[in-house]
Amino acid sequence: MNFEYPPHGGSDPGTVQNGLQEKDINLGVSLALGNLLSNQGHEVFYTRSTDIAVPLLQRSQVAASVNADLFLSIHVNSGGGQGVEAYYSITDSTPRLANVICDDIASLGFRNRGTKTRVGSNGDYYSVIRETVRLSNAKPYLVEMFFLDSSTDRGLYQQVGNQGLAQAIARAVNTVYRSDIGDQSSTGVYTVKAGDTLYSIARRYNTTVSAIRSLNGLTSNFIFVGQRLQIPSSQKVYTVRLGDTLYFIAKQFNTTVDRIMRDNNLSSNILSIGMQLVIM
Ligand SMILES: [Zn+2]
Repeated sequence: MNFEYPPHGGSDPGTVQNGLQEKDINLGVSLALGNLLSNQGHEVFYTRSTDIAVPLLQRSQVAASVNADLFLSIHVNSGGGQGVEAYYSITDSTPRLANVICDDIASLGFRNRGTKTRVGSNGDYYSVIRETVRLSNAKPYLVEMFFLDSSTDRGLYQQVGNQGLAQAIARAVNTVYRSDIGDQSSTGVYTVKAGDTLYSIARRYNTTVSAIRSLNGLTSNFIFVGQRLQIPSSQKVYTVRLGDTLYFIAKQFNTTVDRIMRDNNLSSNILSIGMQLVIM
């Protein structure tokens, strides 16, 4: 289960620059991201889905009440810098998602400032991070996607839009969380080349235009060169857990031990924890 909260809102605009307001970008990216993640099989909740301000503590309480396992707080930065950075809790010893989000947003052209923690007088400096850890089981990450007061960053933002940023973050979430979810369909990523149409891509991957559109949250058939599209696929990826046997996994996926061994080129039925198996 995933959870996110579009920060600021209502009378609190966050950063404002050249007619762009942080609260609008946070909300736009968060809603686009929520759409993508729902289409990809995640359960998504919002602290706000319209232009209202939600008190800080209440945001963490929502995470607890829905028993979220992930809490994304998506911001735009300001103050004279450039690029993406992500904050994680000082209590988080495996903040891999923060790294992958930075990498994926940086792949759009933004500078990668990396991941950070920030300590305050009573633990994590940021209230949403501190209180979410205190009140819930969710891992909180605070992403500063780019700097609104950098004209370079604004230029990049105008190119990729809310949708481009949402796609990058969704890809990161799927990279880190998908492997834990045995029953999710795996997806491939395709980078659009000159001359491609959604129809030609769908044909090549034996899928449909509407399946690609819904997986990527596209509202029209418009695609552009360099755009990264997730491609639906019927195969699943399963990550081996403590106590699993091939027999148990085969039964769970309604297939056979022989079939799994053949599809994964296994020469013996010895499994190691964390090993990824493709289930056709
Ligand atoms: Zn902010």
